[in-house]
Formats: sequence, C-alpha cells, structure tokens
Amino acid sequence: MSEENISKNFIENIIDKDLSEGKYAKIVTRFPPEPNGYLHIGHAKSILLNYGIAKEYGGQFNLRFDDTNPTKEKEEFVDSIIKDVEWLGADFRGEVLFASNYFDQMYEAAVQLIKQGDAYVDDLTAEEIRQYRGTLTEAGKNSPYRDRSVEENLKLFEEMKDGVYEDGSKVLRAKIDMASPNINMRDPVIYRIARMTHHNTGDKWLIYPMYDFAHPIEDAIEGVTHSLCTLEFEDHRPLYNWVVEKIGYENPPKQIEFAKLYLTNVVTGKRYIKKLVEDGVVDGWDDPRLVSLAALRRRGFTPESLKTFMELVGISKSQGSCDYAMLEYCIREDLKPKAPRYMGVIRPLKLIIDNYPDDQTEEFEIENNQDDENAGTRKITFSKELYIEQDDFMEEPPKKYFRLFPGNEVRLKGAYFVKCTGFDKDENGEITAVHCTYDPETRSGSGFEGRKVKGTIHWVNAKDAIDAEVRLYENLIDEEKGKLNDDGTLNFNPNSLETVNAKLEAASGDLKPGEHVQFIRNGYFVVDIKDSSDDKMVFNRVVGLKSSYKPENK
Ligand code: ATP
Ligand code: MG
Repeated sequence: MSEENISKNFIENIIDKDLSEGKYAKIVTRFPPEPNGYLHIGHAKSILLNYGIAKEYGGQFNLRFDDTNPTKEKEEFVDSIIKDVEWLGADFRGEVLFASNYFDQMYEAAVQLIKQGDAYVDDLTAEEIRQYRGTLTEAGKNSPYRDRSVEENLKLFEEMKDGVYEDGSKVLRAKIDMASPNINMRDPVIYRIARMTHHNTGDKWLIYPMYDFAHPIEDAIEGVTHSLCTLEFEDHRPLYNWVVEKIGYENPPKQIEFAKLYLTNVVTGKRYIKKLVEDGVVDGWDDPRLVSLAALRRRGFTPESLKTFMELVGISKSQGSCDYAMLEYCIREDLKPKAPRYMGVIRPLKLIIDNYPDDQTEEFEIENNQDDENAGTRKITFSKELYIEQDDFMEEPPKKYFRLFPGNEVRLKGAYFVKCTGFDKDENGEITAVHCTYDPETRSGSGFEGRKVKGTIHWVNAKDAIDAEVRLYENLIDEEKGKLNDDGTLNFNPNSLETVNAKLEAASGDLKPGEHVQFIRNGYFVVDIKDSSDDKMVFNRVVGLKSSYKPENK
C-alpha cells in the first residue's frame, strides 16, 4: 500500500472502491443543514468533510437546506448558515438548494409507492401508531387500515393533500414489515397533514414529508453519490435504501455514517446552545464563549485553524470527545506566523523612571514577528512614564521571582535595564506606581554586554498608549469539576469572561476589526468584529500562549 492509501479514512476507501468498480462517474456530496439554529463546530466537521471529499475527487459539493419541517425553520438561520459555509471556504458555486423545492417530486414518489402497493393511508392516531409499533423485544402489529386498496389509498392521499382531513387525523405510511427487528422499518410514517406556512412554499402544501422519506429523495434528485451523516442515522440506513430502491433511482446514493464531533469544556449541539442563548447565560449566538461558527469567528478562530483541527481529529465510526486544547493548539499554530507581536499591558501599573528626562521621548526599532522574517520592524516610543503588568511587580517577592521588586534590575523589552527603587501606595494599601532608575548604557541595540538580568518584561509608553477593553475568556464549562452539577444543570465556570481595561502600544490602534495580534506574554487577540469602534477598541483573547496539548508527531 502506498503512503497515500494508509492515511485515507474509511469513507475515502469506500469511494475509491466505488470508483474502481465504475459505480459513479462523478462524486457528489452535500451538507444538509436544517435551518433551525446557527451552525456550530460539529457542523464545520461535516461541511469540511463533505467539501473536502468533493474537492479531492474533482466532484461537486452541494449546500442544501433540509427545510421539510416548517415549524422550526427561520429565514434568519438560512442567511447565517450560508455565511458560515462561505466563511469556511466550502465552495457551493453560489447555488443554494432547498429540499422544499422538491416537494412536488416527493409527492409523486409517494403516489408511486401507493401504486406499487408500498404505502397506505392510516387512520390510527399518533398514540395508536405508537402502541401498534411494538418494542425492541416485541414485534409490532399491523394497522387495521394496512390492506386498503390502491384506489382507496390514492383517493385518500389526494384528499389529505387537498385539505379534506384535519391535521393528525391521517398519515401515509410505508408498507414494509411490522415485525422487523429494526423499528424504523415498521411501516414508518412518510407523510403527515400539517396546516403550516412554509418559509419557501408558503401555504401551498397541507401535507409534509417526513425526514426519512424526504432525505434519500433529495439526495437522489441531486445526484448525490455519498450521503455522509452522523451515527444516529445508522439504524435508518435500511429505510434510506428501501426508499431509493422502491422509487427505482438509477445509481442511488449511499448513506455512510461517521461519529459526531464533541469537544470538552464547551457546549455543542444546537438545542443546548439555543438554551444558553435563551436563558441569557451567554450574550447571543455569537458570544465568543460558544462554539457556534459565528462565535468562533468572533473569538478569532480562522477557517484554516478549523481545517487543521478537523484533520487532526480525523474521521471515525467511534464516538468520543476531543480535547478543547487541541483546537487551541491549531489556532496558535495558524496565528504564529501571521499575527504581529505587539506590547500590550492587560492590567496596567504605572512605572516611573525617576532619572529619565521629563520631556524626552525616544524611539526603538523592534521586530514585528520573529516567526516571520518578512514581517519587518516598527518603531515604538519610550519616555519617563510607562505601564507594566501589575503581575510584573511584587513588593515581597517569593523565591525565583525575577521580575521587578525593590532593589532588582530587569530588562524592559527592546529598551533599557531598569532598577526598582521604590513604589507608591494609596490609603487602601494598593500599589499605585513603581519607581525605578534606568541605565543609559544598557540601551537595546547598543551592543551592551555588561551585567545580565534574569527578567525581561514588556511595557507601553504612557504618553501614546491606547486604552482598550480586553475580554479574557476561559472555558464556559469547567469539566475538571464534572460537566454536570448534582441537579443535572451544567457546571458553568464563573470566570469564563473577565473584562479589563488595557493599555496597548500605539500601533494597536491601526488594527481593524477581525485582525489578529499577539500581545507578547499575554496571548493572541483579535479586534472584536461586533463591539469594537474607533472610539473604543475592544479585543478578544483568542487563546493564551501556553499549550497543554502536544500533537504526537511534534
Ligand atoms: P445538533 O445535533 O447540533 O442539533 P443537527 O444534527 O440537528 O445538529 P442538522 O442541521 O440537522 O443539525 O445537521 C446538518 C448536518 O450536520 C447533518 O448531516 C449532521 O449529521 C451534521 N452534524 C450535526 N452535528 C454534528 C457534529 N457534532 N459533528 C459532525 N457532524 C454533525
Ligand atoms: Mg437535526
């Protein structure tokens, strides 16, 4: 086996076999979202998988809304889903498909099944249907309406369509096998009466097809060859195959299941995310603590980082949770060569250089990004009053603390050595400023080879520093203490959002919404695409710099 074959996933192996047997001329895949919420990272897995396969085999990727269930669907979700799929770079040629555009064909297919004796109109109530269905260990029993004649079924189904019957009073069922060990095959309902306005077809239809009947037809109409879905549909595959076979599609599509993506420390699942939004636990669908794609984009994740992540995760048939740290690793790797390194002080403390001339300002040239040799340099200014991190000063330092404390000397990154001479406290005992002296000999870039210092700290010039709001995020769920509380509610991390007022190097002011930066020692940040403005910049911390995840081959 060549190396290429070894790294292929089980879906690619199936496709290779199909192609070698000449089953399909062109590979067609699809992403079929239900427009009932925003997409999340799990959907990104499905999108990138389907699109990736189509691309790899020179085939076609379709974006098709599975909008056969009019109760929950909203136009707002259609727009956001299109935006997310485009953002991920999954090319659907600008062609947005809707399952509801095939309602006529689905109706025709149902009529065909009736004519073949493969479907019947049932008058049992929903409750009765449930009772007749049997259980996992007990066979179901036939409905008394199961043996209606083709003519009667055709007439009744047409009347269902024409509004003769009340909602729920009749259904169309596939006539398969009430004793099947697979409950999905026990004469599943394939059409129901529902007087609901549909976002696409309006009031045209009073009957709507059920998912298990509609989905294979949608796939077949579009010439989908491999219909990739998640594991919960495995038991539905026999029904999928039954539908395409009975309707007699040539080269029918094939359903293949793979495991859903779950992540630790976050909430995946449309329904759960929706509840967090509705309960006000988070601030909307794009709250950066969520893993909806809108939220990930706002948090500063890039499509490239999600692609790398999905490659690392791989495709499998077995369910499991992925470590959120792995996703963080991917965004760090992506931003490392891309994001400039600026100085930004997250929790500012004034540093006053008592022996530095009052009105003097000087410039230092520093590298924009040591991980990108083409990134160039920029000038930063320096003067008597600076800001440093509160953490970088301690009145009484513990052992091995090499930053500022009375009597200690440190390097101010890219500038001078400074030695701490004292500090000011207010009436509450809070430190309000640190005093130091600088040594002009130690100017950065001067070739100074004298004393060594153990600590280097970052700083910004108080004169031209930019004020900005910085939002520091942690995981929404604290899984260390267990995902659920005793009462079954989610165990939220109370520190999932901290908002601070930071002082940033002047160059930060030129960053545009959505642009990334590394504030050295503090992590990667992005200018918030929603709340940041010229009057007040807002930055989100995408990820810190330290990783708890190491990929195996690094
Ligand atoms: P959720 O489970 O979050 O409510 P869903 O399955 O109801 O999502 P759909 O809009 O029906 O959402 O899904 C569109 C496609 O995305 C389906 O093919 C589905 O299998 C896939 N999908 C949904 N969640 C995940 C996941 N966590 N990992 C991989 N694929 C997923
Ligand atoms: Mg669904």
